[in-house]
Amino acid sequence: MSANAQHNVDSGEIEKFSLLAHKWWDKTGEFKPLHDINPLRLGYIDAIGQLAGKTVLDVGCGGGILSESMAKLGAAQVTGIDMAEKSLRAAEAHAQEQGVGNVGYRCVRVEDLAEERPHSFDVVTCMEMMEHVPDPAAIVAACAKLVKPEGTVFFSTINRNPKSYVHAILGAEYILGLVPRGTHDWQKFITPAELARMCRRAGLDVVDTKGMGYNLLTKVYSLNGNTDVNYMVACKPAFQAV
Ligand code: SAH
Repeated sequence: MSANAQHNVDSGEIEKFSLLAHKWWDKTGEFKPLHDINPLRLGYIDAIGQLAGKTVLDVGCGGGILSESMAKLGAAQVTGIDMAEKSLRAAEAHAQEQGVGNVGYRCVRVEDLAEERPHSFDVVTCMEMMEHVPDPAAIVAACAKLVKPEGTVFFSTINRNPKSYVHAILGAEYILGLVPRGTHDWQKFITPAELARMCRRAGLDVVDTKGMGYNLLTKVYSLNGNTDVNYMVACKPAFQAV
């Protein structure tokens, strides 16, 4: 756990994202990979979670790349939460500029929101966020508490193995420069088995897992069965899953 970690928030991480808050919607800038993968993950979330008319929570939403797209796709209401105020202001400004009225943003810890509004969201998403917190299991538990009994929770993160070090740290940060150096700490990456265990302990069953691949030649991302580096899971409250 990082020395500056308090209440499961690493202030160094929040500072890092806050400094880049003005870049969230620059599709060719530091957050380009998140813009590039967004149609893929949005399609995946919609296929399983059927967003139309749903109440959605996006945990660690940053500048709202995913939150806003879920609102545009027809969710009844999307709430994005993050601990970086500046990112939330950027998200709000963008939604306003786009005339998207069914998305709202709040600076609140997911653990606190779980106490305040348990079992109140049809869909909970927590993408590319857990590898930035001191205690990811507590995030999983809070998401499990926030979802309705018949709802769906989605997580995405990065696997921890030699290949993910080469691809996500050396490749993406140092060789290709896809994301800024220091964005990720390999030790905080989470294996699919570890994530599944966190889910089970939180009363969630993993019902689907997909890998997300990047083709160096075509520069195109795709969903596949290879979870060696980036991957996503869909979960349901255990008593609902078959
Ligand atoms: N989920 C977004 C952004 C991913 S970047 C997307 O995929 O498009 C990681 C985000 O996690 C940043 O916005 C960062 O501020 C946020 N974050 C890091 N620690 C957090 C915490 N403890 N609580 C909430 N958000 C956190």
